[in-house]
Amino acid sequence: MSDYIVTIGLEVHCELKTESKLFCSCVNKFGGEPNSHTCPICAGHPGVMPVLNKKAVEYTVKAGCAIGSRISRFSKWDRKNYFYPDLPKAWQTSQYDLPLCVGGEVRFDVGGEEKTVRLNRIHLEEDAGKLVHGAGFTAVDYNRCGVPLIECVTEPDIHSADEAVAFLEELAGIFRYCGISDCKMQEGSIRADVNLSLSRPGEPLGTRTETKNLNSFRSVRRAIEAEIARQTEVLESGGKVVQETRHFDDASGTGYGMRSKEDAQDYRYFPEPDLMPVVLSDADIDAIAAALPELKRARRARYTSELGLSDYDADVLTSDPAVADLFDETVKLGAVAKKAANYIMSEIMRKGKTEGEDGVTVGVTGAQLSDILSLVEKGEINLVASKDVLDKIWQTDMSASEAVDKLGLRQNNDAGEIEKLVRDIIAANPGPADDFRKGNEKVLSFFVGQLMKATKGKTNPKIAGDLVRKLLSE
Ligand code: ADP
Ligand code: MG
Ligand code: ZN
Repeated sequence: MSDYIVTIGLEVHCELKTESKLFCSCVNKFGGEPNSHTCPICAGHPGVMPVLNKKAVEYTVKAGCAIGSRISRFSKWDRKNYFYPDLPKAWQTSQYDLPLCVGGEVRFDVGGEEKTVRLNRIHLEEDAGKLVHGAGFTAVDYNRCGVPLIECVTEPDIHSADEAVAFLEELAGIFRYCGISDCKMQEGSIRADVNLSLSRPGEPLGTRTETKNLNSFRSVRRAIEAEIARQTEVLESGGKVVQETRHFDDASGTGYGMRSKEDAQDYRYFPEPDLMPVVLSDADIDAIAAALPELKRARRARYTSELGLSDYDADVLTSDPAVADLFDETVKLGAVAKKAANYIMSEIMRKGKTEGEDGVTVGVTGAQLSDILSLVEKGEINLVASKDVLDKIWQTDMSASEAVDKLGLRQNNDAGEIEKLVRDIIAANPGPADDFRKGNEKVLSFFVGQLMKATKGKTNPKIAGDLVRKLLSE
């Protein structure tokens, strides 16, 4: 088998998380009773007039600024005509020749190396509805119809399934940090089309196929691998790859051709007569660019170089912008970076995962967390008790100190009182006490454990350890 160069370009669709839809005031919300988030505008009744959602334009410009696109001072809307029941108007309002963002690039790491993928454009358009297939019928749900969607088109700079997935993860991370999209694959809020061709070194790019609507990173990977194998086989057996639109079936893991690829002219694009062009001033664009947060890649780099965290810790902390924000806030309030990182990665993220179904992954503020950490540091509560504190203050504005008092968790730091308890425990356990005197250090933790049990964990572990050792050695 001869070697082919794999060339991939992605078209990535992300739903923007605006309050309302792109051209009407219907709520932009996943799920809901079918067709409950609809109105005559998004249901495509004749004669209705669209009204542009400015927030969606702002979010698209934000996306462009985040990846270094040129933002268009003048862009316009076009009708992309096609007849399919998921789009009741029979055209999609989109942008054709004058998109909001042109160019840009995304940098990411793959296999230990830095890689850059150039973007061709980002344009804003409306999402289509959903077809629901039942036994012998197909129903339509227009709740998603008219939801603002950005389409990000890459240059053909991607050369493997690994690179495609790493790129998508980076892009999703950028958009999450910008706060413009949740990029939740399972809710279809990010979807990708894969354009793929094979060529021999030194030769022009081969004929590509486009596999549509992949809605998980895993199916992007599998579709790419299957398509590389299929095209290789076609070429090796002397055939020609046909330019076509393909579908990938997740269940069987195979792709199949749907139709010969449509051209722009098949869509009979023409300017949307019902909407004014979008005109942005330098000041508009500068204001949006200035409000961009520090993005994932920059934060990860800062955490390792300035705060001395490991690559692993920096990766975990930056995986969710809410977590990274919490970490930054906590450190700003004086917490030791490594200690804050450890606590967030173990306790906060664990709790966020189990209680975050409502999308809230972080239920405390930096102030609350730094309070917990300093209480632990000062020995007023131990780590075990801190979990109860966390439960108590999660998604409330109660301070950690207040919770400690309410829960009666403040540690006993009274050495005299602890000494009396330790003496009782030693007297009650002559065997292990003897073992210690014979040099078995391990029984120390047995005694500390007994003490913790007797005090319901409310003893300062440092004082406890020191005292047990001292009294056993008497
Ligand atoms: P269309 O308008 O027909 O969708 P575009 O020129 O916009 O075509 O390209 C769509 C996507 O296909 C882009 O991501 C682009 O990088 C990619 N692409 C173009 N040519 C090739 C090729 N020969 N092999 C792989 N990908 C390609
Ligand atoms: Mg296209
Ligand atoms: Zn509507």
